[in-house]
Amino acid sequence: MKDFKSADRIQDLQFFGEFGGVNPSITDSSTFTFLQAQTMSDVFEGKKEGCYLYARHWNPSNHYLSKALAQMEDTESALVTSSGMAAISSTIMQICQAGDEIVSSRTIYGGSYALLKNFLPKFGITTKFVNTTKPEEVANAVSKRTKLIYCETMSNPMLEITDIREMSKIAKANNCLLVVDNTFSPLIFTPAHLGADIVVHSLTKFINGMSDCVAGAVCASHEFINSLYEVSSGAAMLLGPVLDAHRSASILKNMRTLPIRMQQHARNALSLSEKLTADGYRIIYPGLANHPQHALIKEISHSKYGSGGLLVIDLKEKEKADRFMESMQEANVGYLAVSLGAYKTLFSAPGHSTSSEIPEEERTMMGLTHGLVRLSIGLDDNIDRTYQKMKHCLESVLAKNETNEL
Ligand SMILES: *Cc1c(COP(=O)(O)O)cnc(C)c1O
Repeated sequence: MKDFKSADRIQDLQFFGEFGGVNPSITDSSTFTFLQAQTMSDVFEGKKEGCYLYARHWNPSNHYLSKALAQMEDTESALVTSSGMAAISSTIMQICQAGDEIVSSRTIYGGSYALLKNFLPKFGITTKFVNTTKPEEVANAVSKRTKLIYCETMSNPMLEITDIREMSKIAKANNCLLVVDNTFSPLIFTPAHLGADIVVHSLTKFINGMSDCVAGAVCASHEFINSLYEVSSGAAMLLGPVLDAHRSASILKNMRTLPIRMQQHARNALSLSEKLTADGYRIIYPGLANHPQHALIKEISHSKYGSGGLLVIDLKEKEKADRFMESMQEANVGYLAVSLGAYKTLFSAPGHSTSSEIPEEERTMMGLTHGLVRLSIGLDDNIDRTYQKMKHCLESVLAKNETNEL
């Protein structure tokens, strides 16, 4: 993979505060003054850029965070939003109109799936769901009406890796845009280098990493970002998912530690995956040699950041999954909670929580059963201690000799 030093880009961000502060000042204003009335009309007419008008349009704090994200994803520009779903819905609604079609991966975040499947058809935008790990399925699904191809670099919750290079070839050949959700794998993948036109993120997860707020981002060309906040036609401007300046400022500070956090998440997740696999449990983790896209991730990722902080364990039955999660919470392995990318381990059963928007038969097709437990591994300093606790929880939930049957 092209050697791209995204961590150096983050390290080198240099934004001064109003009085020479080492962090940029937080702009605590919803509106901005103009010295000349003419400048204000020029801004409304799009004749003048670089002035602040109203905080739903742009505010300086959001600008700093957007610049940092564009640096990280190596795109010309970026825009921050009040949630990951706002970034995704604004992007899609900016590109598509009634009659257009989307070809999407079938293993995506439950909210994204519900948006495509249930919500967008109200506006005449329909979606074909396919297995994006099989590029031929995508090529076959694309039609003259297809406006965009949508996938996640590392999918939720099955942790499948899509070859973005292949998706990009299909998108280019069919004159449509490739939108990639890189929420599970910041720094691990740089989708723009692999051919993605637009990269979306839920900042709520690894990038902020503190489980204290919800936010999102779109990273793309100047042209596309400008279209999103254009005063009279931009989805971000008109649907209004603006991020609060205080939150923007705190996310920017947390981003400074993302490179070291991503490495620790991945080290811990790999260690647990290897040990639990050796114990006979069924583990899904892209860093294990038995993962179907293990070779692909090695080929297209930045290896320094490993294979991510998520792993899935398959306990076959809902009752066992539930008891395992409750006992892990009792043992203080982490929290039984949705979401991911936090300093502390979070776990949930996607089959009956975050992916419950996906119909049962489709879940079965993708192997998303009720016995799956998804764990987002925290920054634990002593991962062997965590492993011992997890092992104890597993043994208390499963009867003797049951491991071998898994
Ligand atoms: C959480 C998540 C989203 C939605 O983000 P919010 O910040 O919760 O709106 C989208 N995609 C993926 C992969 C996610 O994990």
